Amino acid sequence: GRYMNKYAVIGNPVDHSLSPTIQAQFAKQIGLSMSYEKILAPLDGFTVVVKNFVSSGALGFNITVPFKVEAYDLIDDCTLNAKTAGAVNTIKVENDTLYGENTDGIGLVNDLCNNLQQSIKGKDILILGAGGATQGILLPLLECQPERILVANRTKAKSLKLASNYSEYGKVCGFGLDQIKAKPVDIIINATSASLDGKMPEIPSGVAAGALCYDLMYGRQTPFMQWARENSALEVTDGLGMLVEQAASAFAFWHGITPETKEVIKSLRETID
Ligand code: NDP
Repeated sequence: GRYMNKYAVIGNPVDHSLSPTIQAQFAKQIGLSMSYEKILAPLDGFTVVVKNFVSSGALGFNITVPFKVEAYDLIDDCTLNAKTAGAVNTIKVENDTLYGENTDGIGLVNDLCNNLQQSIKGKDILILGAGGATQGILLPLLECQPERILVANRTKAKSLKLASNYSEYGKVCGFGLDQIKAKPVDIIINATSASLDGKMPEIPSGVAAGALCYDLMYGRQTPFMQWARENSALEVTDGLGMLVEQAASAFAFWHGITPETKEVIKSLRETID
């Protein structure tokens, strides 16, 4: 009913989602009684699932693949960050209206800056891929004032368009994957979904020398992480920290309290590795 703290993650697939475990640990930290379930929405039935969940008294939900853009089209209002991304992963229900946010980018920035102790200011960043994840991370990264961000994508037209959409926020250039030079950069972020198929985009190995190499994917060693290690990367990491940090930002968006993340990352690391 209305008096229950009712939340969920909606996606397809959603069975593998670690969000319920993470949100339960955050709630426990502040002694909050909350339910957080996984809801599988049919690919053509996202809107109906959202309407039913909201009318059952839900106070908020996360949205995962492949509904982040559809969720953006459904909300009544959102943050500037979500508007720029054109995609939302977090919705708060207030007086029957839906308020959207996208916490993926701030999650990545917090993992890089707080957990991995990296600074972004003045750095040369290469992002591989120009899909939904890249859309979500570009503005928060640009707000940290890197020297520049190169977005390289298999389908070049997509990275060119994305780069031009963000040009008012900083120096960002779009390329094709085949145009990447062998010159090293400071940070490489793999935001392609190639790892899901056990693949690695073909790029010159020289670019990784001395770089921090970050795969947004988590839960296993990916071909990108392997490639980075073989090509003299300074540091190699998966996206588990980002996952927990984006969940922490969502929790703060709903409850107004930022939870502790370090212990949560540590405990998840022990269960998935
Ligand atoms: P999208 O489907 O929106 O985009 C996929 C991107 O990957 C496109 O740019 C596509 O290129 C590229 N791509 C796919 N296969 C290949 C390949 N074999 N070689 C080169 N490029 C390829 O996916 P998302 O952006 O939503 O997600 C990307 C990844 O980020 C996923 O692995 C997801 O799990 C992860 N993620 C992790 C988060 C976390 O919290 N850690 C949060 C959000 C996402 P093209 O345009 O040419 O098709």
